[in-house]
Amino acid sequence: MIWINLSKPMSILQQLQAALGPEIVWTPEQAAQRKSSNWVNTTPLNCLALVLPQNTEDLATALKICHAAKQPVVPHGGLTNVVGSVVTQAHEVAISLERMNQVESVDALNHTAVVQAGVVLQDLQDYLKSHGLFFPLDLGAKGSCMIGGNIATNAGGLQALRYGVTRNLVLGLEAVLADGTVVSSLNSLAKNNAGYDLKQLFIGTEGTLGIITRAVLKLEDRPTSRNTAYLALDSFEAAIEMLNFAKKSFGNALTTFELFWQDYYQLMTSPDGPHRPPLPRDHAYYVLLETAGYSPTFDQELFQDSLEKALVSGLIADACPAQSQQEYEWFWRIREQVDYVFTVHQPVFIFDVSLPISKMEGYIEEIKRDLQKNWPEVKVFTFGHMGDGNLHVYVTCGENDATTRHRVEELVFEPLTKIGGSITAEHGVGLEKKAWLHLSRNPAELALMKTLKAALDPHGILNRGKVFD
Ligand SMILES: Cc1cc2nc3c(=O)[nH]c(=O)nc-3n(C[C@H](O)[C@H](O)[C@H](O)COP(=O)(O)OP(=O)(O)OC[C@H]3O[C@@H](n4cnc5c(N)ncnc54)[C@H](O)[C@@H]3O)c2cc1C
Repeated sequence: MIWINLSKPMSILQQLQAALGPEIVWTPEQAAQRKSSNWVNTTPLNCLALVLPQNTEDLATALKICHAAKQPVVPHGGLTNVVGSVVTQAHEVAISLERMNQVESVDALNHTAVVQAGVVLQDLQDYLKSHGLFFPLDLGAKGSCMIGGNIATNAGGLQALRYGVTRNLVLGLEAVLADGTVVSSLNSLAKNNAGYDLKQLFIGTEGTLGIITRAVLKLEDRPTSRNTAYLALDSFEAAIEMLNFAKKSFGNALTTFELFWQDYYQLMTSPDGPHRPPLPRDHAYYVLLETAGYSPTFDQELFQDSLEKALVSGLIADACPAQSQQEYEWFWRIREQVDYVFTVHQPVFIFDVSLPISKMEGYIEEIKRDLQKNWPEVKVFTFGHMGDGNLHVYVTCGENDATTRHRVEELVFEPLTKIGGSITAEHGVGLEKKAWLHLSRNPAELALMKTLKAALDPHGILNRGKVFD
């Protein structure tokens, strides 16, 4: 029973609880029992209320109330975002989609699934196994991140080289607008040019234009063969040639081409580090290469033959294919356990820049040189999705004040403008990169973004202050 004093106007918490009940609407004290992030530096969740809708109608009710009161809200998925997109303040209402976690249907013939926004990516993959299918999005945070969050960030990940980014994997979706209007656009067709493609409004817009509740996803047949290897290379030119060689050799079967600079590989495989090195640690670059297909014998022979050719021709200096499931997991952990960097160095500024592959080597040399001029002891760890033109750069210079952060960001971001790069390939803008958005988007683009925001969310309640002010 909720007692309400009618002589005073109801607070937002009271209004939400009166409409949805205390099971769905938690108090700030209850919310504070939970974490504010599933990434490093976690603090308790600080908010005015935490809403846990069980269905689209609950969410629409909550948003109607918040819209009428001009109450800011922050959509929460798996909280694995690394750019401050889910930062919630004491005056904001957090809305977590975690209870909307059902795979509603799988259409094996048409290779589609309808899923709710709170489904954890790994749970979806596990669910689809029995259907012989999979959803071709894979990222290190798969055990926590949710489909709604993946869509709202247009996540890229480890297989974008073959399957594209999340935008390419969503056929339709349902979202609730700031005023509580439900827009159900659950298209399941590969081609549908009947008017505007409305789902694009919500993909990659970081919860600023609507809250995603359900989606129609494109599925693939589960591969029956997977071949994985570490390669060692002695120059960046060799890495580019190897990428092109792998594309020609494996065609559509090439899923992953992850490049590590020596600094990252050495850290992860140092004697005190978490992993043994699959290959000696003195090469300039390493590649984690993977193919997936449907003809196990043929695929394995092709993989081995191609690696042999690359070795004989001197394209690669060494290679180590995974021979077992254990080796496969060991290889991937070296790539995925990025938070190890934080256990050795603090603070770490992380970047996920996008740039032409041909410019990568010069760019990394330039930023290292400039960072060293400012902080002679600086360490830079570089790795990432080279095949997609996307690098992760981790910078640690021992200082963490706002001036240092700004200077590091300036040194990392500004050189991108002259080589046609972007300040973010996949993590998004959130709070952390909004001061630099003008480097990657021109005034007309920024103005159109603001026009869309004003049209869809006139009171600016959805993730206020994220992406831009
Ligand atoms: C170890 C690690 C590895 C990572 N690797 C990658 C990678 O390879 N590629 C990559 O792209 N990212 C990567 N990320 C970043 C992160 O996992 C992705 O951005 C992911 O898609 C976020 O999903 P989430 O459910 O955790 O979303 P959250 O962090 O909860 O939210 C992210 C954004 O989406 C909004 N949002 C969440 N749910 C909804 C919804 N239902 N409707 C509208 N808006 C919503 C939030 O408000 C926020 O703006 C990694 C993160 C970690 C910690």
